[in-house]
Amino acid sequence: MATIELKGKVQGMYNQVVEKNPGQVEFHQAVKEVLASIDPALKAHPEFEKAKIVERLVEPERVIMFRVPWVDDNGEVQINKGYRIQFNSAIGPYKGGLRLHPTVNLSILKFLGFEQILKNALTTLPMGGGKGGSDFDPKRKSDNEVMKFCHSFMNELYRYIGADTDVPAGDIGVGGREIGYLFGQYKKLTNKFESVLTGKGIEYGGSLVRPEATGYGLLYFVREMLKLKKEVIKGKVVAISGSGNVSQYAAQKTIQKGGKVITLSDSNGTIYDAEGINEKKLSYVLELKNVKRGRIKEYAEKFGCEYYPNEKPWKFKCDIALPCATQNEINKDDAKKLINNGVIAVGEGANMPSTAEAIDLFLANNVLFGPAKAANAGGVATSGLEMCQNHIGLSWTFEEVDAKLDGIMVSIFNQSTTAAEKYVKDKTNLVIGANIAGFMKVGNAMLAQGIV
Ligand code: NDP
Repeated sequence: MATIELKGKVQGMYNQVVEKNPGQVEFHQAVKEVLASIDPALKAHPEFEKAKIVERLVEPERVIMFRVPWVDDNGEVQINKGYRIQFNSAIGPYKGGLRLHPTVNLSILKFLGFEQILKNALTTLPMGGGKGGSDFDPKRKSDNEVMKFCHSFMNELYRYIGADTDVPAGDIGVGGREIGYLFGQYKKLTNKFESVLTGKGIEYGGSLVRPEATGYGLLYFVREMLKLKKEVIKGKVVAISGSGNVSQYAAQKTIQKGGKVITLSDSNGTIYDAEGINEKKLSYVLELKNVKRGRIKEYAEKFGCEYYPNEKPWKFKCDIALPCATQNEINKDDAKKLINNGVIAVGEGANMPSTAEAIDLFLANNVLFGPAKAANAGGVATSGLEMCQNHIGLSWTFEEVDAKLDGIMVSIFNQSTTAAEKYVKDKTNLVIGANIAGFMKVGNAMLAQGIV
């Protein structure tokens, strides 16, 4: 069953979204995929149509937009746009990351926030959906400039968030450094030390495994997926895109499980290491990206491997592809290259990295496909575990959190296969399965709460 086909009532719902949100193409794309997937569940549950659950789900509960003024190191005033989309609180406080990237706009954040609703529902934890960020570019900024921006961003955002209201986290361009600055300013403004952000440093309320969680969770999900073909990660050649938080720990877990990582990338190009990236080379990448904030090209210079400027990793022969950089990084042509080279599984570490046409090609060619909202949910799930630890005032060990994360990823996989089997009699269609499983939980919660 294709993901880009819309028929009947869902086509009408989609047309309305396009009409009401002109030009927001990424948001349209995310809604379309979900509508195409949940059609069988909507037909089986007419109560959703009567209560206009879909029409309510695609409209954010609240959109906050604000000015972020700050002064750069040359004493010049800079102004950025700040956003927070509080999309849906049916099953818990709004929860979702903050993205700092020049491409950030309302469409990108609405697509991410919309996806987040269903993703969070799959985690088994009580978290609603939200997303935020700014068109600020942390690249080539000094620590002082990043701090000034973060403080100014929080000067406005603090009014709308809180431990039981809305709990932001990291995303592209927001790691431990930025969360620290944001948390410090929230505390100063409110005089409260509360679980208002996740991804905090371990010394001030963070959770062990949170930095690793999205990448590790992705591999736990891929491990489950591979079982459908009686396959294992050990011995597989793995192409990974990106070299940020998700990519780094996806690579680490792949290596730990005996896979061979052959690529990493950034927005300037891709490195191809035929010998495989080992733990030692990976620790160089972590230092390069998280401390020196350099470019992945430097890896090729240091280890003498190939570097391809302005190219993506998908032309290289691999068994497993893990897109972990950004949206729409695997298009139809990339998918064809991967399929022709014999890829058996694709796990989405990034959000919406595959276009709808690419997903359809993977499904049509029996490539195991783990959609983002299921496969990368380990990050937000561990954020949920961080909130839990903050609420009870205890810290769990690395092993305890890792075991809980693994259990959650298995549960997400099982919920997805069960829903796919129930509604389309094909447990391997995890796109449909994840969308329906997430939607049923949120839809039922919205029904129970009446028209609000
Ligand atoms: P980081 O900022 O740590 O890393 C992002 C990586 O992607 C960098 O290597 C960056 O390269 C690359 N990248 C960004 N934009 C582009 C682009 N337009 N073209 C090519 N490469 C690009 O972000 P994360 O690792 O945290 O996030 C990566 C993806 O994973 C995002 O889609 C995010 O939404 C998703 N995600 C993240 C979670 C988390 O816990 N962090 C949780 C769930 C999903 P460069 O340095 O050159 O910009």
